[in-house]
Amino acid sequence: MDPAVLDDTPEMIHNIPQPALEQELSNFIAKDPNITLIKGFSIHGVEQTEDEVVATIEERSTGNLHQTKSRHLIACDGRRSKVRELLGIESESEDSDQTMMTIHFNANLRPVVGDRVGMLYWIMDPIAAGFIIGYDLDGIQVHISKVDVEQHPVESWTEYMCRAKICGAIGKDDVPFDIVSYRPWVFRRQVAFSFQKGNIFLAGDAAHSFPPTGGLGLNCGLADVHNLAYKIALVHRGVATPSILSTYTAERRGVADSYSKQSVKNGKEIFALLQSLKTAGVEDVVQARKNMMAAFADPAQRTQVEAGIEGQREHFDNLELHIGYVYGDTKPPAHASHYSPKFLPGARLPHAWISFPGQPSPETEAAKRFLLPQKPVDVSYVKELDMGQVRACQWSTLDLCGPDFWTLVWGQEQEIPHITLLQKHCDMIGARLNIWRLGVDFEIVRQSWFADELVNGGGVLIRPDQHILARVSAETNGEEDLIVEVNKHLGISKC
Ligand SMILES: Cc1cc2nc3c(=O)[nH]c(=O)nc-3n(C[C@H](O)[C@H](O)[C@H](O)COP(=O)(O)OP(=O)(O)OC[C@H]3O[C@@H](n4cnc5c(N)ncnc54)[C@H](O)[C@@H]3O)c2cc1C
Repeated sequence: MDPAVLDDTPEMIHNIPQPALEQELSNFIAKDPNITLIKGFSIHGVEQTEDEVVATIEERSTGNLHQTKSRHLIACDGRRSKVRELLGIESESEDSDQTMMTIHFNANLRPVVGDRVGMLYWIMDPIAAGFIIGYDLDGIQVHISKVDVEQHPVESWTEYMCRAKICGAIGKDDVPFDIVSYRPWVFRRQVAFSFQKGNIFLAGDAAHSFPPTGGLGLNCGLADVHNLAYKIALVHRGVATPSILSTYTAERRGVADSYSKQSVKNGKEIFALLQSLKTAGVEDVVQARKNMMAAFADPAQRTQVEAGIEGQREHFDNLELHIGYVYGDTKPPAHASHYSPKFLPGARLPHAWISFPGQPSPETEAAKRFLLPQKPVDVSYVKELDMGQVRACQWSTLDLCGPDFWTLVWGQEQEIPHITLLQKHCDMIGARLNIWRLGVDFEIVRQSWFADELVNGGGVLIRPDQHILARVSAETNGEEDLIVEVNKHLGISKC
C-alpha cells in the first residue's frame, strides 16, 4: 500500500466484490425505518403530472399490476433501463466491434500471487491474455479477455473452454477452481443525453454505462445519488425550489461522460499492450509465445512494451477521476492519476487530517461534535503506519460536513459580518448551517496547505454533498455575496 494516498483521501481504495457490497447495503437499509425494500416487482409504466409520478409495477410471480404514487422517482434500473426507454430519453453511445468475455470463477489465488497482492493482474500469456480482477484472492475472481469471434463465436463457448482459459491464466495445474458463470459483452459506452425528465431521474447504469476497465461504474452511480439526494430533500422540505433539480444533469452528465471515455481508453490501452507483444491473432499458442519472447528480447520492441505497461496506470490509479472533478468544468482531466486538491466552487472539499483541540465543553462544541460521524476513521489496516500515525489520522475535513448541513469552514477566529448575515439568512430559510473555525473548533494535523488556503482565502462554504459552493473572503466578497450564492443554488429569490 502507498500510505501517501492518505494525504489525498481518508480511505484507501477498497476492493469489494459486488455481491458482498450489495449484502452490506441490504443489511444497512433493513435497519432504516425510512426505507421499505420490496422485491419481485418490475417497472411496467410511468406517468407524471407536474407534482406527481405514478409508476405501474408488475408483480413478477403473479403478473398483477399495482400503482405507486410519489413526488419524485429515481430510476436505478440498470443499463437496459425500462424507465429510460419509457421516457424516451436517448443516449450518446460509442460502439466497438470488440467482444469481450467475462468469466467469474472461485479460486484461492494466494499461493499463486504470494506477496504480490493486488487488485488487477494482467495476463500476458497468449493462452489467456487479458486481466483478472482479484476481488477476493481467497475466493471470487473475474477474468476478462477479448474474444476473437471469427475463431470462437460466443455461442460456441462452453464451460470447458472457460476452464482451459482460467487454467492458463493461473498458470498452474494444481490450483482448484470453479467456474461460476461466463458472459460475453461488447465493449461500448453509453451516456443518456439527459438524466432527468420532469420529476423522474436516471441514476447509475440507467444513466450511463461503460466497460469495467477502470472500476468507475458503481462509483459514478453512487456519486449521482449523492448529488441528487440532498437536492430532492431540500425541495421536499420547501427550502429549495424545483429548479435546483435541473443542476443534476448539468453537474453529473459531464463526469459520467469523462468516466465513460476513460474506461474505453483504458480498454484500448490493454489491447495496444497485447498488440505490442505480437501475439494478437496468432492462433498457435506455441508460436504466439515465441513471438512474445522475441518482442521482449528486441530492445526497440521492449521499449514499446514498457511504454504499453506504463499506459495501464490510469486503469487502476485514477483518483483525479474519482474525487478531482469540478462541477461546471467541462475539460476532461489531463491524467486520471494526477490528482490535485482544488479549492474551487464545484470541487469536492479537499481532504486533510484534522483534530479537535481541548475538551468539547461548551454546548456549541458538543453540538458540533454530535454531527460528526459516530466512529473516527480507522487506518490501522495500513501496515506501513505506526500507532502515532494511525492516531493522527482519525478525522478528516470531510467529516465536518454533515449530510444534511451546509458547512462553512472558516480560517480565522474572529466573526465577520459575512458569517453573521449568512447564519441569519440560513436560519430564516430553514437551511441548516454549521460553522467550523480553524484554530478554534479544529486544527489541521498534517496538510498545512489546507490551512494556508483557509487563512489566505478566508474560507469555503460547502454544500451538503461535500462540494464547494463558494469561496469566502473578507476582502473579496461583499457581505451579501454568500447569500446570493446560496439563493442562486436553491433557486430562491432574495428574502
Ligand atoms: C466485471 C465487472 C466489474 C466491475 N467492477 C467495478 C468496479 O470495480 N468498480 C465500480 O465502481 N464499478 C464496477 N463495475 C460496474 C458496476 O457493476 C455497475 O456500474 C453497477 O452495478 C451499476 O449499478 P446500478 O444499480 O446502477 O445497476 P445494476 O447493478 O444493473 O442494478 C439494476 C437493478 O435494477 C433491476 N431492474 C432492471 N430492470 C428492471 C425493471 N424493469 N423493473 C425493476 N427493476 C429492474 C435489476 O434487477 C437490478 O437489481 C463492474 C462491472 C462489471 C460487469
